[in-house]
Amino acid sequence: MSPTGPTVTFHGVRGSTPCDGAPYARYGGSTSSVVLERADRAPILFDLGTGIQTYGDAVAARLAAAGPGAVPYEANVCLTHLHWDHITGLPFFMPAFRPDARITIHGPRQAEGPLDQVFTGVMRPPYFPITPAQMAGDVRFVDVGDDRFTVDGATVLSRWVRHTDPALGFRVDADGHSVTYISDHGPGCVPEDPDDYVPPAVLELCDGVDVLIHDAQHTLAEYEAKRHFGHSSIEYAVHVAAEAGVRTLVLFHHCPTHSDADLDRILEHARDLAARRDGPEVVAACQGMTLPLARA
Ligand SMILES: [Zn+2]
Ligand SMILES: [Zn+2]
Repeated sequence: MSPTGPTVTFHGVRGSTPCDGAPYARYGGSTSSVVLERADRAPILFDLGTGIQTYGDAVAARLAAAGPGAVPYEANVCLTHLHWDHITGLPFFMPAFRPDARITIHGPRQAEGPLDQVFTGVMRPPYFPITPAQMAGDVRFVDVGDDRFTVDGATVLSRWVRHTDPALGFRVDADGHSVTYISDHGPGCVPEDPDDYVPPAVLELCDGVDVLIHDAQHTLAEYEAKRHFGHSSIEYAVHVAAEAGVRTLVLFHHCPTHSDADLDRILEHARDLAARRDGPEVVAACQGMTLPLARA
């Protein structure tokens, strides 16, 4: 284990679509991108939203400073699903244009065909000038479903979660710590499920985890009209975390209609909910925030 242990850094925290301007200045407007970093190990990237661009720029600058070919770049990506807010950062991820780069994208198996073909279906002319295969680095796709696999000494558990299209949640156990990432998870996608039902697969992903990064897109008032959108209420995110014995819940996938002031109120409300049931510590994902997986 490294001296400081693994960390997660939030490069994009917004759901659905990027947003910009003064109302979003503190929490940020880039879409879903979180990076798990461990000393002397390749990073694990959760999703490829627009937030991955600034992270990639910093990595590319660091590699360039180290000299040509001195430090081959390697990364594993845990891709939850193919909605735009989770994939449109890839074409602007500069490390993928290095000939020495090897980027393995573990993403949801598709009914329409192999993941690399389906992904390339939206990243090719006329939608974008190049395909993933035309990036200079070795960008490869691995089809994933309900699986357990190892990447660079970390154990990854993937499980299908309820959303409007096929979507995965991921749990990573590494160096004695754990983080779970369920960016898009909507209990309303299965109308017959009671509102407080937590599927066994979700409990398995979240059981006793150090840090749970979970969909928290809607207030309860918004949720009533939008339950079929495939996202969670703040109440449901806290409920999942409490049921699973999570240590720290990170509210994530903020709705682009929620301003910084709205998110301050949402965070306060979520903390009240958690305190009432002796639940987890709660924080709201904020662009640029780094959290250690180990207890401070
Ligand atoms: Zn999303
Ligand atoms: Zn989605």
